[in-house]
Amino acid sequence: MALVDRKLFGPGPGNPYPEATSALGQPLLGHLDPVFLSLMDETCDRLRTVWGTTNARTIPLSATGSAGMEASFVNTVSDGDVVVVAVNGLFGQRMCDVAARCGAEVVPVEHEWGAPVDVDRVLSAHPSPKVVAAVHAETSTGVRSDIAALGAGKGDALLLVDAVTSIAGIELRADDWGIDVGYAGTQKCLGVAPGLAPFTINDRAFARRVEKPQSWYLDLGLLGGYVGEASGSGGRTYHHTAPTAMVASLHAGLGRILEEGLENVWARHAEAGRLLQSGLLEMGLELFAQEGSRLPELTTVKVPDGVDSAAVRKILLERHGIEIGAGAGAYAATVWRIGLMGHNARPDAALLALAALADALA
Ligand code: PLP
Repeated sequence: MALVDRKLFGPGPGNPYPEATSALGQPLLGHLDPVFLSLMDETCDRLRTVWGTTNARTIPLSATGSAGMEASFVNTVSDGDVVVVAVNGLFGQRMCDVAARCGAEVVPVEHEWGAPVDVDRVLSAHPSPKVVAAVHAETSTGVRSDIAALGAGKGDALLLVDAVTSIAGIELRADDWGIDVGYAGTQKCLGVAPGLAPFTINDRAFARRVEKPQSWYLDLGLLGGYVGEASGSGGRTYHHTAPTAMVASLHAGLGRILEEGLENVWARHAEAGRLLQSGLLEMGLELFAQEGSRLPELTTVKVPDGVDSAAVRKILLERHGIEIGAGAGAYAATVWRIGLMGHNARPDAALLALAALADALA
């Protein structure tokens, strides 16, 4: 079957930056080739910039964002540890499941979907948690939460943050905000295909990590050698075969972002989201996420009464080549999710999405 060229305006993946796509077509490098090792070093440096961190242990894990979530919990949580999880959507729920599988005593702090995390409630949920976990940008609802405030009040706890949909899309400052452990994905605002999980952990969290986590693949103690942590590039040891083409693609995508300037990239996402959201409101549609906490890169729209959500998405796909997402969980049929992330965070993409949606609704 012929592949088609879609406009990926859903919750991810988005269309990659052209530079990231071109890199996939370059001759493949071996995973211990010196050229690849310096490419990996530079990729980790570039990741530090988009994370807003100086953490030495900042690496692209060889798996998708969910593996980043698994790595975060499996390395910090063992039997009986108390983990407070802010749950304001699907990915907060998933965190609870993952933490529980690590043996945690999970304290979920439930929120209405569409609302941001209530920092006071989360911070007062337990007197001495080992970990406080939250999702910065809830892709299921289109909501941004205040991670800096969680970091300011976390006390002795480790702050574990999901930045899958926020990294390189909205302001993210891991060190300034007190993020101890963070994971992301490549397929959203980083503008690269799915397949890697940019991950960062600071010394404080690393010192308190689980000695021998139940996962071999995601054991950060073993992964140190993979990125040459012990003695620079020369100390690289085989842990697993690095997905070299994907790392080269991430390197190129990050290069594109840093060339434009990270703050300019945030501003471009903000402007595309503003155009889309104001256009939707002008069309008489209602937004789902609470005003004041709406993500620019992922907009949630209420499906108007009497409109068949799936039928509209089918028209968008078949007539316009545009993919948007259904709602998540209980909102599958009543909410649409429109993402303008990475390469798609542009005014022309926002206007195209609006025009196509108007046509599908006509
Ligand atoms: N966390 C958030 C906020 C996400 O949006 C996603 C994916 O959409 C994930 C975690 C899981 O990432 P992946 O699907 O790449 O495994």
